[in-house]
Amino acid sequence: MKESMHTLKYTRDWHPESIAVDIGSTRVGNGHFLLAAGPCAVESPSQMTAISTYLKETPVGLLRGGAFKPRTSPYAFQGLGEEALILLKEAAGSLKIPFITEVTDVNHLDTIVRYADALQVGSRNMSSYELLKTVARQNLPIILKRGMSATVEEFLFAVEYIADAGNHQIILCERGIRSFDTAFRNVLDLGAVAYLKKQTPFPVIVDPSHGSGRSDLVLSLSLAAVAAGADGVMIETHPNPESALSDGPQSLDPAAFDNWWHQVEALARHLGHNI
Ligand code: PEP
Ligand code: MN
Repeated sequence: MKESMHTLKYTRDWHPESIAVDIGSTRVGNGHFLLAAGPCAVESPSQMTAISTYLKETPVGLLRGGAFKPRTSPYAFQGLGEEALILLKEAAGSLKIPFITEVTDVNHLDTIVRYADALQVGSRNMSSYELLKTVARQNLPIILKRGMSATVEEFLFAVEYIADAGNHQIILCERGIRSFDTAFRNVLDLGAVAYLKKQTPFPVIVDPSHGSGRSDLVLSLSLAAVAAGADGVMIETHPNPESALSDGPQSLDPAAFDNWWHQVEALARHLGHNI
């Protein structure tokens, strides 16, 4: 078959075995299941202390939290910046797990890499190819989220911007796509998860919080993600979702979080994952 510049390179033909990605001491993929959780945005020291209290002694292997927030409205809370990174580092240290935060701009990178164990590129920036190449060069694991209007092929090509820059510590994250349906914030594309698992050797995780926009659907969609073959689930949680400065309606409160991790862990183990 003719080689084409439109052909994906980093497929299962390139690497038939599933690749495991290490974020600090947390292994993801190739039989290792990731539970990632944290607030949409870091808001205050007391919020992070509360979250650390109920994340302690759970199988959560990665703390998430926004420091530089990509908000749809310029008038919405934009994140605490470096102060958030300091709070995340403190919380992750007390939990003895790594943390990830989103990079929205290359100008923030120098600051972010002083603290973070992994870098997230969000849905709005999946096709910011110069950002992807620069992030790839930081020598840190990357979670790349699917663009809200991206086809799976476009998603896979975005992954290749990182892989071809020499960084193979990549985790793909399905987080829902735009649709005509107004019942959900996004439509979680679990067919894409089953498909991606066949195409790419890199781990594939699912974010049912942004994928639905509704905390009451996060557990069902998490379990469905495990069944579809995901290597992990990443969710948003908040000690008091009603008062959250961003994404409260999709954030699990401490009781829902407790039920969530018990059930997701049980199913992942049942299906043979290490967790
Ligand atoms: C996030 O995970 O903080 C986020 C903003 O999600 P997304 O990029 O999927 O919208
Ligand atoms: Mn959010």
